[in-house]
Formats: sequence, C-alpha cells, structure tokens
Amino acid sequence: MSIKENIDSILNKVEKAAKKVGRDPADIMVVAVSKTVDSNRALKAVESGIVNLGENRVQELIKKYDSLTDTDVKWHMIGHLQRNKVKYIIDKVEMIHSVESLKLAKEINKRASQNNLLAKVLVELNIGGEESKFGISEESIYEFLESMEEFENIKVMGLMTVAPFCEDPEDVRWVFKKMKNIFDKVSVMNFKNTEMKYLSMGMTNDFEIAIEEGSNIIRVGTAIFGARNYKED
Ligand SMILES: *Cc1c(COP(=O)(O)O)cnc(C)c1O
Repeated sequence: MSIKENIDSILNKVEKAAKKVGRDPADIMVVAVSKTVDSNRALKAVESGIVNLGENRVQELIKKYDSLTDTDVKWHMIGHLQRNKVKYIIDKVEMIHSVESLKLAKEINKRASQNNLLAKVLVELNIGGEESKFGISEESIYEFLESMEEFENIKVMGLMTVAPFCEDPEDVRWVFKKMKNIFDKVSVMNFKNTEMKYLSMGMTNDFEIAIEEGSNIIRVGTAIFGARNYKED
C-alpha cells in the first residue's frame, strides 16, 4: 500500500476508535514518525495530509527540517534528547515529547530563553517500569511539575509515554488507563507553567487502545512508512 493509503487507513481506524468511546476524532492528532525514513517519503506523508512529523534523533530532524522548509510541517522531538543538542532544535520544533529529567528541562528553559521563545514540552513517564525505557516514575510527577514552576520559558503541555511492546495491545490497556488517571489528577492541580492539554500515547501496535483510553496524540511510524530496516535507540 502507498503512504497515502496507509494514512487514510489509519485515519479511518482513529475515527472508529474515537467513536467507539464517544470522542470526536478531530481531537486526536496523528504524529507521523519519520525516523529512518528519507525526506522524500516524509514529504509524501505531508502531501497526503500529515501536518505533524516526529523524529527521535536531533541530526536526522535537522536534516529533514532543512529539506522540508517549503511545507508547513510541524516537527516533534519524540526521542531521548541529550542536553548538549537542545540548542540545535529549540527553534525548530513544535513540541518536545521526551522531557524526563530536571537537567534537561533546565537546559531547554535556558535555550528557549536565549531564543526568546516559549518551549512546549510533554513530560515522559515510564509506567511499565521497564529499565530500558526513559521517563520519570508515576510517583515523582507531582514533584517534577512543581520544579517546572521556576522555568518561565517552558510550558508543560501534557504527558507522554511509550508503553511496553506486547503482541496483544489489550495487555497494555492498563498503562494507558493509568496515564489518563495521572493526567486527570494533575490537570486540576494548576501548577504554574503547566497546561495539561495533551496525552501523547499509542503507536502502530496499540494506538486504537490508547485512543479508547483517552490519548489525543498518537505517534505512528511503521503503519505509515512500513517496517524500519535498521536498528534504532
Ligand atoms: C519509533 C517511535 C514511535 C513509532 O513507533 P511505531 O511502532 O513504528 O509506530 C513512537 N514513539 C516513539 C517515542 C518512537 O521512538
């Protein structure tokens, strides 16, 4: 199937999953994850209606950013971000989904301030407890958001997680449920510099379940561009 057909098929599934639980499909943002995919194919996705592209490596993001300057594409940094690379992307990305340490947040705040901009970020949580995954624990989210109150050039727009991979996505429904629960709890706590708007969860294998549980940003790579054939982080 073509990239366009893949995207149409996903949008169809998004609509079905949303309607199943009485949600408006228009409230769900699809971030097409173009990591390892060349700029031409990423452009195909944009020509097929995709507005948001996600990358997990700084160098790759910058390269594609430069190739796609003629489009209105919005870039999302979704992968582990090293502090010394924040300066390269701070003025190029719509949102950073992977803030999982105070040191990283501090650097983002510093660079955002130097560029005179407000950095939109999501806090990454590790719900599955897997050691191989980045993200702060459920218990530390409140303290973390409290620490964000001193960063005037950061706006925390929500939470993000990468669920453990399971053959049957029903096996990770609990992760999404838990995320929604935490999201709802912190939403009413009115932390300064925080506006809980986005819940970024759900990938190729599990986005329909994530939507049923309240996700409003799904990050889909494989189902749009096909299997990636080289190793990633
Ligand atoms: C690669 C990646 C995705 C997309 O994964 P697929 O299974 O290919 O849809 C989503 N989120 C993050 C953080 C990723 O690194």
